[in-house]
Amino acid sequence: MTRVIDLRSDTLTRPTEGMRAAMAAAEVGDDVYAEDPSVLALEEQVADLLGHEAGLFCATGSLANLIGVRLLVEPGKEVLCDARAHIARAELGAHGAVSGVTMRTWRSDDGVAGIDAIQEMLEPAAGPYLVSTAAVALENTHNFGGGTIQPLAHLQQAHELCRRVGVRLHLDGARLWNASVATGVSMGEFGRLFDTVSVCFSKGLGAPIGSMLVASKERIAEARVLRKRLGAGWRQAGVLAAAAAYAIDHQVDRLADDHVAAREFAYAVAERAPHAVQPDRVETNIVVLNTGDRPAADIAARALAAGVAVSALGASMVRAVTHLDVTLAESRTAGEVVGALLA
Ligand SMILES: *Cc1c(COP(=O)(O)O)cnc(C)c1O
Repeated sequence: MTRVIDLRSDTLTRPTEGMRAAMAAAEVGDDVYAEDPSVLALEEQVADLLGHEAGLFCATGSLANLIGVRLLVEPGKEVLCDARAHIARAELGAHGAVSGVTMRTWRSDDGVAGIDAIQEMLEPAAGPYLVSTAAVALENTHNFGGGTIQPLAHLQQAHELCRRVGVRLHLDGARLWNASVATGVSMGEFGRLFDTVSVCFSKGLGAPIGSMLVASKERIAEARVLRKRLGAGWRQAGVLAAAAAYAIDHQVDRLADDHVAAREFAYAVAERAPHAVQPDRVETNIVVLNTGDRPAADIAARALAAGVAVSALGASMVRAVTHLDVTLAESRTAGEVVGALLA
């Protein structure tokens, strides 16, 4: 049987040999006691990288977002975000179910809302009858928006707006690495505009597990308590921190290859099915296809039968994500297969 070209997600990457060697060699200790040297080093490194004082290594991006938003929003207040934000759609209601935080959402074409749309929704001091806005959460790159980059100037505007009205700002930066590589804007330039930032090591970076939440020292001290309360304190997590550190050293620059591969995929689709995607709008490693009146699930099933795995993420939305376990040639082939199905 030929190998399936698996573009369902960049979380599918497996640790490389070099990464496994780094994990095996990691110095470890008990991280609940804050005594794991590999974890402590990673927390300091990534906090520095993002222009923040401190970091907390977490098992998942959902956990880092859950804690990050909770640090900024007390129970009974709200966080505003895009209708297709990961925190709104893909975290199983955690912010409401666990933190007692409510959400209101704005709509956008590709995950980047106009500043006016955000401004209109802000209600920082809503009084005794309405929910008060405590924070805004942005996502960069925007996953369900199609890997869209939130431009630095846009984020600066959001930052100024929120500062002015006394609302906090959280960044879901699961793929901030991709935004940074694609634009040349440093992680710190993006990171400094936010009160809390989460980044993932387990997406395009290729680590098996792990995300980092960064913020001020004070907030991270509180975050440690919240993490333990959620049952998510961990012990010799240094083996995982070593994988993340290896990924930062060796597997960030190559994200540019994933971006090229995503465009290849999109061009191959568009040659056959021009209505499905605008390839020149593909900015990073995610391609969202519009299947029109063909059910996305049906397209995904047919693609799989032809050796290409993609995700159906809505009635007429298919997502393909390039990553380090898929070559440029395979990405093009996959685009040809899916494009033929959509033609
Ligand atoms: C993957 C992802 C996360 C975190 O997901 P986990 O599976 O919980 O690690 C958060 N935000 C975005 C935008 C993501 O794509």
